[in-house]
Amino acid sequence: MKRLLCGAICAIILLALSACATAKPAVTSFEAMDTLMTLTVYGDDKVGDQLRSRIDELDSLLDMTDESSELYRLNREKSASVSPDTAALLKRSLQLSEALRGSFDLTVCPAVQAWGFTSGDYRIPDDDELKKLSEMIDYRQVTLDGDSVKLSDNTRVDLGAVAKGYAADCCGKLLEESKAQAAVLNLGGTIRLYGRKPDGSPFKVGVADPGNPAAYFGYLSLDGGTVATSGGYERYFERDGRRYIHILDPKTAAPVENGIQSVTILTDDGTAADALSTALFVMGRDRAIEYYHTHPSFDFVILTDDGTISLTEGITDRFTLAQGYDLRIETIN
Ligand code: ADP
Ligand code: MG
Repeated sequence: MKRLLCGAICAIILLALSACATAKPAVTSFEAMDTLMTLTVYGDDKVGDQLRSRIDELDSLLDMTDESSELYRLNREKSASVSPDTAALLKRSLQLSEALRGSFDLTVCPAVQAWGFTSGDYRIPDDDELKKLSEMIDYRQVTLDGDSVKLSDNTRVDLGAVAKGYAADCCGKLLEESKAQAAVLNLGGTIRLYGRKPDGSPFKVGVADPGNPAAYFGYLSLDGGTVATSGGYERYFERDGRRYIHILDPKTAAPVENGIQSVTILTDDGTAADALSTALFVMGRDRAIEYYHTHPSFDFVILTDDGTISLTEGITDRFTLAQGYDLRIETIN
């Protein structure tokens, strides 16, 4: 009798597993954080809505162009008591600004606004203005004490380079509390992978072609983590044949022009992945490699103007060049 019961239970489990394996994922697409997001969840039809509400909640706190956001209020009033999310992300961003000094700085906002990247009224500040703007970029002008934040008079904060990464981390926590078996959260250039796909296959993540961002120049086969990409193609304007991109060098307050097309970072910590993709873009290829050698806690794919893909050794075997792309691949050990 016991053996029969055991057999019956095993059969039920097997049936449930095979039902899972064929189950279609729940897919939700929507706009948030100025981009299109697509959430694909296997094994839980309900958590997608929760993830979306969480992302919307973060967006309404962190959007520095929205007059009702906490960040807008902080930038205007210079002193504010903020929500646990804003305080947590400010804290991380201050640590990252210190660690990535000179290439990532959360107080880059005045320069981002002066170039017109927030309004779309693009302009080119002259050298005097750039000098003044670069002096306004200094993360040490932000004081955080629990939930109370103070900015010095000329300081404004921009969390655009880390908001999607932080959202990916928050979504990861919700997924852990859910019934989801696996998920691919595409938060527009920042992709959080979760769990194991029902058929056991690895996740396949495309790396956007900067010349045609709807296409991919390569694919990564991954088991998990967060993949964050920074590229000039995301937002830019052109004047007299020159392209000005939305990633700025904190030292000069000007758009980066260093031969990098895009930087993709893979690591478990989404906030770090997002900050690193921006920071390594600013560093340029050689300094990015140097940084990796001293902090090898992540992997990267860097595409440069000369058609070279630099890949860290941890993901060399996981990268496949897409058909039709004639690019040189170098491995960084
Ligand atoms: P995207 O938001 O397109 O995915 P990033 O993650 O690289 O790209 O973030 C770029 C945004 O971060 C810019 O639009 C700007 O608001 C802000 N930013 C630009 N340069 C820097 C920098 N050096 N340090 C911190 N934030 C930056
Ligand atoms: Mg980033």
